[in-house]
Amino acid sequence: MTSYTVINPATEQPVTQVEHTTAEQTDAAVERAARAQESWRAVAPGDRGRLLRRFAEQVDGHSAELAALETAGSGHPIGAATWEAGQVRDVLAYYAAAPERLTGRQIPVPGGLDVTFKEPLGVVGLIVPWNFPMPILSWGMAPALAAGCTVVAKPAEMTPLTAIRIGELALDAGLPDGVFQVLPGKGSVVGQRLVDHPLVRKIVFTGSTEVGQQIMAGCARNIKRLTLELGGKSANIVFADADIERAAASAPYAVFDNAGQDCCARSRILVESSVLDRFMELLEPAVTGVRVGDPTAADTEMGPLISAAHRAHVASYVPADAPVAFRGSAPDGAGFWYPPTVLAPVAASAPAYTEEIFGPVVTVTPFADEAEAVSLANDTPYGLSGSIWTENVGRAIRVARAVETGNLSVNSHSSVRYWTPFGGFKQSGLGRELGPDAVDAFTDVKNVFIATN
Ligand code: NDP
Repeated sequence: MTSYTVINPATEQPVTQVEHTTAEQTDAAVERAARAQESWRAVAPGDRGRLLRRFAEQVDGHSAELAALETAGSGHPIGAATWEAGQVRDVLAYYAAAPERLTGRQIPVPGGLDVTFKEPLGVVGLIVPWNFPMPILSWGMAPALAAGCTVVAKPAEMTPLTAIRIGELALDAGLPDGVFQVLPGKGSVVGQRLVDHPLVRKIVFTGSTEVGQQIMAGCARNIKRLTLELGGKSANIVFADADIERAAASAPYAVFDNAGQDCCARSRILVESSVLDRFMELLEPAVTGVRVGDPTAADTEMGPLISAAHRAHVASYVPADAPVAFRGSAPDGAGFWYPPTVLAPVAASAPAYTEEIFGPVVTVTPFADEAEAVSLANDTPYGLSGSIWTENVGRAIRVARAVETGNLSVNSHSSVRYWTPFGGFKQSGLGRELGPDAVDAFTDVKNVFIATN
């Protein structure tokens, strides 16, 4: 059996060693999940809700421990990691109310009665990336469990620690054996087996568009249900009539959150030409003011990148002759550090402008008018997120409707709320997570006609 040494990205020191799950162990876990599903779907709705609330309480009671694990294993600043553990608790508590609301319909038909049931799909395979190990795990896990599905989760190879601990907390909360299992290991082994195994009825995948394409092809073999949350290259559009101070102060947090390792990162700032100079003047202190450093310190805003290889990948977007307008700071010495970096002016063909960087690098591009802003924002195969800054409410709505992306904020850089739907347009994904309808994505509708004459 092989294993993986988890490395602390801030110190480059080993944290612990985690054994890889094999393909045979993955098959055994899927079979266990399929057996557990028979009884889990039969648990009374109120009791299923109660167990999920207890699971939320377990997570809440261990949030400091989970946050510290994430800081050590993923390099997330402790403040952010604490919020992420809280997110798992909140998502579980939100979907704990769903089992008692999983209602079907009664549809008028001649000669009888027609009713629909929302039946749980069965075993769900949940494949999680390394950038937000806790929240993304919870977004699939909680609604699936609420729907009466059982879940086999595969965390990213580099960041398995919090998922493993959350799996233990599920058992402590009283979830029956086999209802929620966490299998650390490789995507090419565990992930692939979840995609191929006929007893897995749905895959929830968050990760790169390339792997998402392979997974979609794999799911086609068994007509397996699929949700995909993929990459992004989102725009932060600043109009001249906006509160420029607020827009500039917020822009670093729209892209450098989690060191830019965020699918919703607004990595292209588009600014109306008439206010470009003023915006850049204000952006510089906002960027240099981002507190980058020791992720265990309470006031740190940005930590390191996940690995040396990823840092080299991010750095490749900023070659020696790159048009660096200004950059923030980053510690020297051990750790996979990279400073917040602003590129301007950039060519429309530059990889930094066209590709997802997944690091703390942002480009600034001017536009002449609303039509050009929309056209630049849409000139990408992705469509996940974005922001619009304007004081004109008509324009805000017009532009929000015209930008081909799944999640937009006006005069704000916020991206995801667990009680509102989240997902991508175009190559950013398929299906929606979160929000009040997320449980439906883990059910199939069964239609039953009962003759009355
Ligand atoms: P990857 O696509 O490389 O990996 C994601 C997950 O898939 C990992 O658990 C990985 O395992 C697994 N995996 C890899 N290959 C396979 C395979 N053949 N079959 C099944 N599973 C496999 O993405 P990253 O981890 O690099 O994550 C970064 C990407 O995720 C970015 O593009 C980002 O935009 C996107 N993302 C999208 C979000 C959204 O909500 N839309 C949110 C967060 C990230 P292993 O760790 O072993 O490689």
